[in-house]
Amino acid sequence: MADPKGFLKVTERELPKRRPVPVRLMDWKEVYEQNDPAQVRRQAGRCMDCGIPFCHQGCPLGNLIPEWNDLTWRGEGRDAIERLHATNNFPEFTGRLCPAPCESSCVLGINQPAVTIKQVEVSIIDQAFANGWVDSHPPERLTGKTVAVVGSGPAGLAAAQQLTRAGHTVAVYERDNRIGGLLRYGIPDFKMEKKHLDARLKQMTDEGTRFRAGVNIGVDITWDELKARYDAVVVATGAMVPRDLPIPGRDLPGVHFAMEYLVQANKVGAGDDVADQITAEDKHVVVLGGGDTGADCIGTAHRQGAASVTNLAIGTQPPSERTDAQPWPMMPTLFEVASAHEEGGSREYLVSTVEFLPNAAGELRAIRVAETEFVDGRRVPKSGTEREIPADLVLLALGFTGPESDQLGDQLGVPFDGRGNVGRGDDYQTSEEGVFVAGDAGRGQSLIVWAIAEGRAAAAAVDRYLEGETELPAPVRPTDRAISL
Ligand SMILES: Cc1cc2nc3c(=O)[nH]c(=O)nc-3n(C[C@H](O)[C@H](O)[C@H](O)COP(=O)(O)OP(=O)(O)OC[C@H]3O[C@@H](n4cnc5c(N)ncnc54)[C@H](O)[C@@H]3O)c2cc1C
Ligand code: SF4
Repeated sequence: MADPKGFLKVTERELPKRRPVPVRLMDWKEVYEQNDPAQVRRQAGRCMDCGIPFCHQGCPLGNLIPEWNDLTWRGEGRDAIERLHATNNFPEFTGRLCPAPCESSCVLGINQPAVTIKQVEVSIIDQAFANGWVDSHPPERLTGKTVAVVGSGPAGLAAAQQLTRAGHTVAVYERDNRIGGLLRYGIPDFKMEKKHLDARLKQMTDEGTRFRAGVNIGVDITWDELKARYDAVVVATGAMVPRDLPIPGRDLPGVHFAMEYLVQANKVGAGDDVADQITAEDKHVVVLGGGDTGADCIGTAHRQGAASVTNLAIGTQPPSERTDAQPWPMMPTLFEVASAHEEGGSREYLVSTVEFLPNAAGELRAIRVAETEFVDGRRVPKSGTEREIPADLVLLALGFTGPESDQLGDQLGVPFDGRGNVGRGDDYQTSEEGVFVAGDAGRGQSLIVWAIAEGRAAAAAVDRYLEGETELPAPVRPTDRAISL
């Protein structure tokens, strides 16, 4: 156990500072300052060794949180990273990007602020990379079996690393020009610099995983051909079909899906030339929809020099504190002030967009919005409350309806479930033998931690399919959901 009296001596949560807003808006680097090792140790020492660590249930990976809190408090960083890697292939991603459902279920959180678990996690892996403790683990023997992983987001990468280490020959196919999925082209550098992804990809390459960027499965190679070439296929193609807003003016230049905008910004950040880049420079920007995608658009727009940024949400503003409807240890929906929200702009709730309005030249000039009201259980615009908001650029961050289905469905005959996700059984296998599904493609747009957990579990299922048995861990089932009572 970490310090037995730690939670009595240190009662406050301490987190690393965010860099000053005017400074961080001048670059694309991560917003947080370096971890202070003394602060991390103090926080790790608050872990109570509570006996029934609900944080294990809160974390889809089942991270052994009290164990690495204890090791961090003792200054045993090398053992801490071993315990962390035992359940999580990529703590540098989750430690930066996870919304930390573990912290919502921390037992200390019942009557004190929760342990800063996520900060301890990222400090362990950052220290390990800095000290050269992140070795490659190539397999001791090869099985002679081959696996194709399609999609290089966190689900595909986790599945690939597990299967490579189990001795299979694994190739990861990615249609983008770089590997990483949403970690590469969705999430901006100010949340996670790409050097962390590149360091992990180097480890994976050293272990023997092969990467094939710029190959669109279904187009460059058909799904049937891929299935015939490999002993097993893992579909980890994400859930990237965006939800649209089919209202008058939707076709006006200046109205874009968030991902069109974010991918371009990330490509430019990586040094690519993007012709006719959609940019927020000097524009009045309106972001429709909250969530991570909306926040990433806001932060990107501010760094590009937007004239103004307005974020509209159709729902009510969430509460700042847990309500009785979402008791501990559930993960509550709370009003969040992400780093991007701190950087400027305004947020409005209960606003419904009814029309995109053009100027004389046929370009976007404004949006017409109205207050929302509930009619027959649906939120609808309230008549008489319409007003205009100036807008040169509108970004639709309204969520995603599911994975792309055309080629996968047509070429392999794989079914899709009622929510539009790729259908699969308890063993992550589709109706097509030897074809497995992991991450958002099977679950719907979710979180990085779930994608990694599913990638690990699907890898165990593939290994069992190929070898008849497996020693790989399977932290989650396809039907598992976030902790609830
Ligand atoms: C803008 C944005 C910000 C987010 N921020 C966060 C966050 O801060 N924290 C968090 O936990 N979650 C966040 N999420 C959610 C998280 O990124 C996803 O849940 C996670 O990346 C899903 O991983 P995945 O591996 O299933 O799919 P993805 O990361 O979507 O990767 C799928 C990959 O498959 C490739 N692909 C698709 N079809 C083919 C094909 N036919 N052939 C070859 N390649 C193909 C795609 O190009 C893509 O690279 C965010 C999502 C978005 C959109
Ligand atoms: S991965 Fe997420 S839920 Fe799990 S320990 Fe880390 S921050 Fe918590």
